[in-house]
Amino acid sequence: MTGRLSGKSAVVTGGAQGIGLAICRRLAEAGAHVVAGDLRSPQDGNLAWKPLDVTDEDSVTGFIEAVAAEQGGIDILVNNAGIMFERSLAGQSANDWDRMMAVNLRGPFLMARHVVEQMAARGGGAIVNIGSLEGIACNPGHTAYAASKAGVHGLTVALAVDLGPVGIRCNAVAPGWIDTDLNRVYVESHPDRDLVMAELGRLHPVGHVGDPLDVADVVVWLASEESRFVTGQVITIDGGRHARLSLPSIMNRA
Ligand code: NDP
Repeated sequence: MTGRLSGKSAVVTGGAQGIGLAICRRLAEAGAHVVAGDLRSPQDGNLAWKPLDVTDEDSVTGFIEAVAAEQGGIDILVNNAGIMFERSLAGQSANDWDRMMAVNLRGPFLMARHVVEQMAARGGGAIVNIGSLEGIACNPGHTAYAASKAGVHGLTVALAVDLGPVGIRCNAVAPGWIDTDLNRVYVESHPDRDLVMAELGRLHPVGHVGDPLDVADVVVWLASEESRFVTGQVITIDGGRHARLSLPSIMNRA
């Protein structure tokens, strides 16, 4: 296949579903050879897949070595795997906190740490981390999630600084509300899903929540040569939700 990522070898963590699956599809459409790494096989049976637990260093090194041996190297890493839970501070154990950090922050660190050698051997590469709008502002009960995603944003900047000299760019995207299983528990806590989605849409200047492909298209750009002078950036993808300030609802303009 020809395309702007033709001949590139890409790996996407958490690529079995949701945003990760959309990223895999868009990278493949752009011509890359894509391997998803996830705890279980993808919803799309046509996608190349290998088991991966991003919290486990042996799993990470085994995954990277296997892909590099098959593809001759790795040019693009998308750190997408992530978890989210809503818990009050008092209702949250140290183990809960550690689990969030292990998947959302240790995972991207381990993947970057072990992929660098592969990328440098090919003269460079691109790392794209999936951060979150909640690394910038957050909903109640999200102490661990928000902290982990702010950490991802900081890791992104630090990797860009350290890896620029070996030709590796590192950027992040900060998605707002994207309709995936990650948000399912919240949406289904109300009996009328359509009403919840409509109300969520009203929070966005564009009038609706995001789709996984809205994130994937920006990730492909960050992975491609078209963004060759962009590194150390966190790009918000939220339909303008964060740009709009709240006003008192009694003023009828909120
Ligand atoms: P999903 O829950 O739909 O997908 C996450 C994927 O990551 C799942 O396939 C999951 O596997 C996998 N995963 C979880 N833990 C691990 C692990 N230890 N090793 C490997 N894979 C793992 O979520 P989304 O697609 O919505 O989220 C993708 C990313 O986008 C996450 O980092 C999330 O924080 C971020 N994000 C999402 C937003 C949203 O509104 N949806 C907004 C902002 C950011 P399994 O299902 O088996 O656990």
